[in-house]
Amino acid sequence: MTPRHRYKPMLAKEAKAAFTDPDWIFEVKWDGFRALAYVDSELSLRSRNQKELLDNFPELGELKRQAHDVVLDGEIIILNGGKVDFQALLERGKATSPTEIEQQTKRLPAAYVVFDILEKDGKPLLDLPLMERKKILQSAVQEGKHVLLADYVDGKGESYYEAILQKGLEGVMAKKKNSQYEPGLRSGSWLKIKKLLSCDCVVFGYTLGTGARKSTFGALVLGLYGADGKAVFVGKVGTGFSDETLDTMLSEFRKIETVNEPFKADVAEKLTWLKPKFVCEVAYQVVTKDMRLRMPRFVRLRNDKEPKDCTTDQLGGEAPLNEYAAKRHFAQTQEPPAQKEAPKSGSKENIFVVQEHHARRLHFDFRLERDGVLKSWAVPKGIPETPEDKRLAVQVEDHPLEYANFAGKIPQGQYGAGQVIIWDKGTYVTKVWDDKMVEVILDGEKLKGRYVLVPLRKAGKNNWLMLKPSQ
Ligand code: MN
Repeated sequence: MTPRHRYKPMLAKEAKAAFTDPDWIFEVKWDGFRALAYVDSELSLRSRNQKELLDNFPELGELKRQAHDVVLDGEIIILNGGKVDFQALLERGKATSPTEIEQQTKRLPAAYVVFDILEKDGKPLLDLPLMERKKILQSAVQEGKHVLLADYVDGKGESYYEAILQKGLEGVMAKKKNSQYEPGLRSGSWLKIKKLLSCDCVVFGYTLGTGARKSTFGALVLGLYGADGKAVFVGKVGTGFSDETLDTMLSEFRKIETVNEPFKADVAEKLTWLKPKFVCEVAYQVVTKDMRLRMPRFVRLRNDKEPKDCTTDQLGGEAPLNEYAAKRHFAQTQEPPAQKEAPKSGSKENIFVVQEHHARRLHFDFRLERDGVLKSWAVPKGIPETPEDKRLAVQVEDHPLEYANFAGKIPQGQYGAGQVIIWDKGTYVTKVWDDKMVEVILDGEKLKGRYVLVPLRKAGKNNWLMLKPSQ
């Protein structure tokens, strides 16, 4: 790496759901190769592991005409029949001969979607708020045949996310308007929101196949590197492979077999260990408490990412509270910060709290302890008192357990500015908790008995109705 190529791309944390917030913008999450472009008298396009990408994508040389003396952040993508084609991109990344590259350039041309600017005329812009960088970017880069400027929408993340998924794209990025560019950091100021959670894992071994897969492997043994640099087992994946992957991978594996065990894997079948070389993206539903991917499915091999960059922070032990933390400045507000390790509430029963919140609009925040956090709803008209009351309850981000004790004033200019009063507090028992209904029995000072929340999907993803059924 020459000193000129000194930046690492800023990384995003994973958020569970899209949200609507005037302090954030939302962009398409492109399925391509992340690349920083260094444009001056020369042009260099660097992958996140500093690999030169211009050799394989010569058409992106157009950047030299569309911008001058800048460092840009963006994603190289291939659009094929209106859809993003990551497989084609992988093919292009692998090509080595000039004739092959030339043919591919014509057949499957790439585009560079630019979404950020790190330097202009030799001056770093990292400390400027995102929206100021966006403004500079607009005037610094001309769109061309292969150079595109990323669109974004202001605030309305939920409706945008729905529209993006309808188009068959994989998700959205949420970016905080006033955030600085933090090179190489996985920052809470950038959040990725995807249909399925996914994680880039290192293939540390495999099991042999049986039945129809007798001639190839059965499952891949997956691991990630912890903060201490040690590999940890996160599960195995046995589904989602294309025939091509199944055909070619085993012979590749044979070349990198090892007797070194990176970790203890609770895999019943006999397994063969591999040196860390292959990285694959794996989709999953949830991470269990012992850090295993539940319902994993192979998505794709990634040759644009180094094994050492596949770290456990992708799974974010604190992930449920990312959005909570990202919205608040704990130097300014007395609200409790999101803890890395969720503390136990101390009691065997789950707690609930209702906070009267005198924000821009008065509402009541109804919070239920579950999975180490407070699941939260804002109820504008207050908790229902009779079976006739049907109250809109808008689900908001999970709050840390300590929030149940919070009362006080959130200062002006901060998220949710205004007075918070504890209106009621107590314990509760769960009767039902699934996608279609949450039913609880509350035992508080004011609230006692059965309460029900049902999703009101047609009115928006986070909208629920809160009811107090007759006992
Ligand atoms: Mn509130």
